[in-house]
Amino acid sequence: MENLTKDIAEIARVALKKIVSEKRLPTPHIYEMEFIEAAETLKKDRVLKYLTEDEKNLEQQIQAVLDDTGGLLSSLQISLGMFEEDSRGHIAVMDESIESIRSVSDAMQGAGLEGLLSEITKLKDTNHQLVESLSQTREELSSKEKTLRDLENLAQTDPLTQLLNRRSWNKQLEEEFERSSRYHHVFSVIMLDIDYFKRFNDFYGHPVGDAILRKLGALLKESVRKIDAVFRYGGEEFTVLLPETPLSVARTVAERIHKKINTTVFVDAKKRLELKVTASLGVADSEGLNTPSAILEAADQALYLSKQSGRNCIRTALDFAPVNSTS
Ligand code: GH3
Ligand code: MG
Ligand code: MG
Repeated sequence: MENLTKDIAEIARVALKKIVSEKRLPTPHIYEMEFIEAAETLKKDRVLKYLTEDEKNLEQQIQAVLDDTGGLLSSLQISLGMFEEDSRGHIAVMDESIESIRSVSDAMQGAGLEGLLSEITKLKDTNHQLVESLSQTREELSSKEKTLRDLENLAQTDPLTQLLNRRSWNKQLEEEFERSSRYHHVFSVIMLDIDYFKRFNDFYGHPVGDAILRKLGALLKESVRKIDAVFRYGGEEFTVLLPETPLSVARTVAERIHKKINTTVFVDAKKRLELKVTASLGVADSEGLNTPSAILEAADQALYLSKQSGRNCIRTALDFAPVNSTS
């Protein structure tokens, strides 16, 4: 344990030195990213393992189960469905055969065809049972598939707000980055942090704070388009991913959200208290940035600037980007 503490102190020193030497804003997220990078550079595997193992393991396990079973279950269900259809077809053919043998048998006055008739009838019963059991198996498979989907949802949902959680954020930001790079499209990110939320909690209590977080989550969801995704990044911080959206449009969305928060009266569970909160927002787009974390960093810096500018406002990547003298 002592060694682990020493390692952490060493990593922290390297990370801070780098942030200072590169003259970057020491926001928590930049610090977090630099901390992980320093741990990797210094090969502090134990610390890295400590930081990332559980998260990765769970994610990988869930993905592996879904990859293995999800597809298999669907194709099994399709095959069983086709098999069931076939068997029902056979039963219909058997019914027709029984009818025609019966009429031939009647015409020939029962010329020894009863045996054949009873064989076919037995076969038909067996086929019936097979269809029943196929349909039961299919139902069982479909319920297993639903359990898997529920598990997948659980792994990517924040239990308090029912928004997507940080794990989903990491995944979707990466996917959006890849898509936008491939098709040369631009996307934007909004980062939002409630102002002085600690004081709010201290004053009204944690359950009231929780209710605010839930309501704010719902407010965010109804303020964006269907293709945008809202995440609880952590604590009282939220992010919005806006595909196919340039900075100017994302800023308009941020303004809409900001205005909505400022005009919303939040109430506590007993509806006795009328509460107001404010939030600071940072907006960035993917234009000219080479990695998903660079985009997150830009939004985070814009948010940091909002806090520095007195809170309850919006800043964008344009507010801190160095001005290009040739343009
Ligand atoms: P700032 O304007 O600088 O963002 O100040 P702040 O107080 O909002 O920021 P700080 O990071 O100091 O505190 C964040 C607070 O958010 C701490 C904690 O009380 C609160 N918080 C984080 N997660 C939850 C949660 O799940 N429920 C509740 N009720 N409060 C939470
Ligand atoms: Mg915060
Ligand atoms: Mg805050």
